[in-house]
Amino acid sequence: MTFDTPAGRVFVDADATVLALGGASWPRLGSDGGWVAAVTQAGIKVAPLQPANCGFTAGWSEIFRSRFAGQPLKRIELSFAGQRVRGEALITQGGLEGGGVYALSGPLREAIAASGEAVLGLDLRPDIAVDELVRRLGVPRGKQSLATFLRKTVALAPAAIGLLHEAAIASGERIAAMDPPALATLIKAVPVRLTGVAPIARAISTAGGLAFAEIDAQFMLQRRPGVFAAGEMLDWDAPTGGYLLQAAFATGAAAGRGALQWLGR
Ligand SMILES: Cc1cc2nc3c(=O)[nH]c(=O)nc-3n(C[C@H](O)[C@H](O)[C@H](O)COP(=O)(O)OP(=O)(O)OC[C@H]3O[C@@H](n4cnc5c(N)ncnc54)[C@H](O)[C@@H]3O)c2cc1C
Repeated sequence: MTFDTPAGRVFVDADATVLALGGASWPRLGSDGGWVAAVTQAGIKVAPLQPANCGFTAGWSEIFRSRFAGQPLKRIELSFAGQRVRGEALITQGGLEGGGVYALSGPLREAIAASGEAVLGLDLRPDIAVDELVRRLGVPRGKQSLATFLRKTVALAPAAIGLLHEAAIASGERIAAMDPPALATLIKAVPVRLTGVAPIARAISTAGGLAFAEIDAQFMLQRRPGVFAAGEMLDWDAPTGGYLLQAAFATGAAAGRGALQWLGR
């Protein structure tokens, strides 16, 4: 094993080595996936590193981007391919990120890879049934602007109202011209067309990595006896919120035990 240190190169002849070199997200923190080339050259299979728990790009209009980038959509429900999650999303310059989006990032990434886009559904008021929304939207608006009316009757934040405008315009409509049932239906399922995955450098974690077929039950590389691997460099994926750290610790403990067993053989 060779280490580059401030004092120069250090060579260590170890009887057992545990590699825990991470994935490739937030590379400026040190985990840059640089190990992939060396491992692949040694004939060890590595599934391509991809962003996970990541943001996505959406083709926002200039007006929506300039007014709402950086604002959250709070207490919403996000749905895609039969999965629904409660959480929040952050509107970015290029699209969406945030906890709710990360939770669906696996299937969204796969869909975009397969067909170039994925339509994410956002329920902006998940706690209010559509009938109740229709009733509230049916109350005469009087002299209030549409934005004030929506804020007062259904408690929508300016960013959520902006998103309704954005979605309506994308399908050639105007929310001001929608009747209460149509507007209620839109509030319950705003379609957001996602067309790309945000760069891995901004992702919370990494999918892909060292193939499980390459390690044995003790997390030892079959082609390199005495070398073990753990953590995000292995080919698994998990939601954020503690599960990634838990899996990194658990595989680290298993690889450490494997190394001890190897040394005591
Ligand atoms: C912004 C952010 C927020 C996160 N929030 C959460 C959260 O809330 N909950 C959760 O469960 N997980 C979260 N995670 C994910 C979690 O931090 C990782 O899954 C976990 O740290 C992976 O542990 P690891 O030991 O496998 O890799 P890492 O923690 O990435 O450690 C790998 C280490 O190896 C070093 N290294 C890499 N290559 C070399 C090399 N060639 N030579 C020497 N050293 C090298 C790196 O510098 C690094 O120190 C978050 C991640 C990010 C980036």
